[in-house]
Amino acid sequence: MHKSECYSDWEGQISHRISTRDQLEKYIKLTPDESAAFDAEVPLSFAITPHYASLLKNDALRRAVIPTHHENVFRADELDDPLGEEDHRVTPHLIHTYPDKVLFLTTSFCSTYCRYCTRSRMVGKPSTSSFEETFLYIEKHTEIRDVLLSGGDPLTLTDAVLNKILSRLRQIPHIRLIRIGSKVPVVLPMRITDNLCSILRKHRVWLSLHFIHPAELSPQTQTACQKLSDHGISMVSQTVLLKGINDNTQTLVDLFYGLLEINVKPYYLLQCDPVRGSAHFRTTVEKGIQLIRSLHGHISGLAIPQYVIDAPGGGGKVPILGNEQIRREGDGVFFINYKGKEYYYPDPPSK
Ligand code: SF4
Repeated sequence: MHKSECYSDWEGQISHRISTRDQLEKYIKLTPDESAAFDAEVPLSFAITPHYASLLKNDALRRAVIPTHHENVFRADELDDPLGEEDHRVTPHLIHTYPDKVLFLTTSFCSTYCRYCTRSRMVGKPSTSSFEETFLYIEKHTEIRDVLLSGGDPLTLTDAVLNKILSRLRQIPHIRLIRIGSKVPVVLPMRITDNLCSILRKHRVWLSLHFIHPAELSPQTQTACQKLSDHGISMVSQTVLLKGINDNTQTLVDLFYGLLEINVKPYYLLQCDPVRGSAHFRTTVEKGIQLIRSLHGHISGLAIPQYVIDAPGGGGKVPILGNEQIRREGDGVFFINYKGKEYYYPDPPSK
């Protein structure tokens, strides 16, 4: 009964999501801290698919999705909106930060919530449904070439809704690239149906998939990615660097080679954003540099993602290769973005 196969279709997985302590305790024995976190108000919704719950014997994955009291420890330099997205919100569903690309927030729903989510201020909360204003904005702004559908997780939308969004975007002549950011192949692999693959293929969508650990490469996830690949869908991965979860060379090597084996190119290793209540997940930037340097020259270049800091406040992603790019001051580091502007990342406390 605890096996994900009990709900072999994706709608069954969603309707049987684990969203209470009692339901979760049917899968794993909670620690006192984990159990107590359910009595407190935590800022982010809680939900896990039965499929992902079946992987929680792995401690790293468990830490990523089960709340603890640390989420209610807020540091002064952490923010609800660490990337300053709200300052660039141009319609209820659209963030326009970079000159030629936009972030289209299609849904606030995820089938499983990651405890370090940058958008914890909005995921799992109700949102308005009309996209018309967003389409009109993209149509009018001919400088936009690249649309990233995100949320929430766009692949939790129905085929009909996704097809409608993608068809409308594909009618806009200046749009060259459509990407979808998703964790669905990891947390809800049965969502990757032939029909969904056909829709993604028809609209020439790139997938940017969120993986954090080799234990996420379950047989079902491997099958889902293989199916996407067989349909000709291009896939890259994004990995958030997380303390105690994947902040060691061997874990990253296993993950990145595992991704290549299922035709997913490791794209970004992201410094964890300083969202409120994230200090227990964040590493120092020096640690990130040490890890990325431990990969260069030692494993295939194809297996190495770019290590980036998404500049807090909306400065965009900045690739970091070495210590010469950062200037330490106080409890954090300064670095320069693509516009030559200086940004600050607050390192977590050392203890
Ligand atoms: S899948 Fe992405 S949007 Fe959803 S909770 Fe995880 S990090 Fe946030």
